[in-house]
Amino acid sequence: MIYLDYNATAPLHKNVIKKIQNLKFEEFGNPSSVHKIGRNSKKIVEEVRRNILSTLKAKNYDLIFTSGATESNNLAIKGFIKKNNIKTIFSLQTEHASVIDVVKNLDIEKKFFNINSNGNVNLKEIEELLSKQTSLFLVSIMFANNESGIIHPINEIAKIVRKYKGIIHCDGVQGLGKIEIDLDSLDVDLFSISSHKIGGPTGIGALLINTRNNISPEIIGGGQEKNLRSGTENFLGIVGFGEVINEVNNLAKICNSEIKNNRDLLEANLKKLSNEIKIFGEDTNRLANTCYFAYPSMTSENQVIALDQKGICVSSGAACSSGKVEPSHVLKAMQVDEKYIHSAIRVSLGWDSTKEQIETFFNIWKSDCFKNGALNVR
Ligand code: PMP
Repeated sequence: MIYLDYNATAPLHKNVIKKIQNLKFEEFGNPSSVHKIGRNSKKIVEEVRRNILSTLKAKNYDLIFTSGATESNNLAIKGFIKKNNIKTIFSLQTEHASVIDVVKNLDIEKKFFNINSNGNVNLKEIEELLSKQTSLFLVSIMFANNESGIIHPINEIAKIVRKYKGIIHCDGVQGLGKIEIDLDSLDVDLFSISSHKIGGPTGIGALLINTRNNISPEIIGGGQEKNLRSGTENFLGIVGFGEVINEVNNLAKICNSEIKNNRDLLEANLKKLSNEIKIFGEDTNRLANTCYFAYPSMTSENQVIALDQKGICVSSGAACSSGKVEPSHVLKAMQVDEKYIHSAIRVSLGWDSTKEQIETFFNIWKSDCFKNGALNVR
């Protein structure tokens, strides 16, 4: 099998497996229990919390463990709005469903910054919009897009937000392990992360909250996580996350060297094949592991199936939970021509992807998708 779908999830890191296998009986308790085993596990949870904060250079932040970034995004947006009586939210049409669907369901004023055909925002337009605000507002913008890999200038956006006395939430999921994160200098108010995108377990994530901010909980009950997220902590998940976070800066280095070389090689080969092949966000600052491209003949779904039959895992831009392939809302927002939207596929490389795998992918795509494309036109 050749796995090229790292933006969806990454295989479990070997250190995580080892760490979980080596956990001792005396360490695995309920972190809220008063007895020794409970205290031992509480100590581990707190060590991981400190470790994540220091690795992400987040001295000015608290960290709340969640079940993943979907929950972190829900908690950040709904929890902040509720606590601070926010009346207006700004976001992007290209956000992940766990942001865009939350925003669309809010009962407050919603505004969206425009995305240009390169997939990025216009800072002047953002400043113009925000300068008109007269009450506290929230901006929710992702660090990097999960489909296109396009990186947004969060630092600059955060400065504008701050200038007009707003609050900024950033879905940082796709940045982790691909770019070194320095949260204190990024200076956002809320930052969502997820463990499984970097080789940690699924079902564990976190929301980092700048200490100057307050939010209301979404899940109430036992009062865990400083009353902001009730429920017994996902201890195994936290242990695994804590292990893989040790690797995160190393992963980012690999992403911007070996992975980038392989991705660039793939794109150079694609471009040599035909100038009808479009690589989305090619001219924009984007994640070094992501190649999102289209050749307007065979549908995305047919390509994903054809490649799967040859043991290659890639994805169309956006697969919903039923596995059905929907036309990408990201490409729509970038005003990409329909014929490309329906044939887009996303190849996202990871830390174990090799040059040989990329070459095999290219050759199989060329023979089974590119050459056969005309036979499968919609
Ligand atoms: N945001 C982005 C940008 C993502 O890529 C994902 C995962 N597809 C999520 C949020 C949701 O993360 P989780 O799977 O941890 O809920």
